[in-house]
Amino acid sequence: MGQAKQWFDVALAIADPVERSQAMSDLAFDAEQMARDGCRAEAIELFELLATLDRYDDLLLPAIESADQRLISLRGRSLPSLDEVVKELYRKFADLPERERLLAVAKTLVRDHGRRRPESWGVAAELVAAAEAIRPLAGKELRFRLRCRNSYSDRPNLPPHPARDRVALLRFTNPTDIPAYGDWDFQVFGAGIALRAEDMREVYAAYLENHRRYHINISTRSGRYAEAQRVTELHAMLSEACQAGRDVTLDGHDYVWSFSSDLMFEKQFESVQCPVCQREFGPEECRVLEWSFGEDLAASGGRRVVCPSDHTLYSCMEWNS
Ligand SMILES: [Zn+2]
Repeated sequence: MGQAKQWFDVALAIADPVERSQAMSDLAFDAEQMARDGCRAEAIELFELLATLDRYDDLLLPAIESADQRLISLRGRSLPSLDEVVKELYRKFADLPERERLLAVAKTLVRDHGRRRPESWGVAAELVAAAEAIRPLAGKELRFRLRCRNSYSDRPNLPPHPARDRVALLRFTNPTDIPAYGDWDFQVFGAGIALRAEDMREVYAAYLENHRRYHINISTRSGRYAEAQRVTELHAMLSEACQAGRDVTLDGHDYVWSFSSDLMFEKQFESVQCPVCQREFGPEECRVLEWSFGEDLAASGGRRVVCPSDHTLYSCMEWNS
């Protein structure tokens, strides 16, 4: 085993995520140094290891991105075109049925290239459209399509997304009186949250699609029936607001707080106002942290969104044992 691999394994074994990311950044720095000192092969080996790190981990991204960049310059190669990347991924997922294959290519493409190459979101959107033509999208697939569209339309240097004049917002106040909050060891604040209305409209649409598929015959007296009725109303209200470019304010308890959890944890919100800092923050300024509470059969956990001063502005339980 080479020296680089040993250093990398030691860094990878660090349990604390912040310390681990620091160790990885140090390794990227060491590799820089090696490249400057003429140890090109060792530098490439180390950068190649860094490039294998988990790209979903925000803390590790600086090390990964510096490795990506340096690998290109050290190998004297240019970036493969997105077309080539897509073709290679398409070959890689040859075992999947066509529709799933297209979606897998799209997801992998933006996971590996989305941050550095914003145009990959546009390519992913086209792949998703091709998958959708085979069979309509549902659930997570709809949310992925939305991410592609948003990421694509957020980039001013790209051809504009079939445009809207104004993005309608859905505003709500993060509820502070959810019974489960009482157990948590952090305080949740009543932050003012703004989501893009069309994002929530898609979340409701995915819920209703699922409802139509699996629960259409339930009793009109059941709670799920009442919920679906209300979500239908909310969906209609948001559709109208999106068309008119008009903002909507809803009560956070009204199928908004829990329904928006994916958008919040994927940082797909417009802004959040911290009542303690008395400042508004964009998604790039906030962090998403995991939490858990209790033990064994009485444990629960989820994620939360915190401002730069660590005030919890949104939290939701995602599992319990
Ligand atoms: Zn704050």
